[in-house]
Amino acid sequence: MEIWAATGNKGKIREFELLLKEFPEFKLHTQGEISAFTPRPEDGKTFLDNARTKARTLRSVKNSHWVFGEDSGLEVEGLGGLPGIHSARYAGPKASDSENVAKLLKMMTLKPMSNRNAQFKCALVVYTPTGEEHVFEGIMKGHIASKPLGQLGFGYDPVFIPEGQTQTLSELGPGYKIQRSHRAEAFKQFLKILR
Ligand code: IMP
Repeated sequence: MEIWAATGNKGKIREFELLLKEFPEFKLHTQGEISAFTPRPEDGKTFLDNARTKARTLRSVKNSHWVFGEDSGLEVEGLGGLPGIHSARYAGPKASDSENVAKLLKMMTLKPMSNRNAQFKCALVVYTPTGEEHVFEGIMKGHIASKPLGQLGFGYDPVFIPEGQTQTLSELGPGYKIQRSHRAEAFKQFLKILR
């Protein structure tokens, strides 16, 4: 059975593959496999809006399969919730992960603050092959490190230290994330309906 993911983010795709490992009967496909597929701009006001737009756009060409859209990002308390839904483009429309991390650390020094609390949020919108919609959400709380550490993961992983830990997600690695992350929390609710 096919499951189609509305993302081109390689870091997320690796995590979805790990999360789906216990379901060998489901094969993960991504929008990149569809020639001439054009994702719609992420112009929603919330993670959920954007996740739903992604899922619906992909469902319009893959409507007899399981399809999901996921939108996620980092909210930093001392920055009023930024970068939030703009996480992927915080340092500019084509910014790399390291440019986004550099901008985040710069913003946090420009505005000296003791509050480094932050959370990752994930919204997941799933369509079943018959078109039923399911919505799942996940959160991971933590704080922002003073400098990037570790080699694993993607996005803001090198500067995010989960609650109760002393290392960044990039040091803790994918084994930690598939147990405890915002994405894992949302995705595991989806896995329950696949079962
Ligand atoms: P999206 O593909 O538009 O949802 O972009 C999400 C962005 O949020 C990513 O490009 C990362 O910058 C950030 N992000 C979301 N989830 C994670 C995560 O698990 N680790 C690190 N960064 C993340």
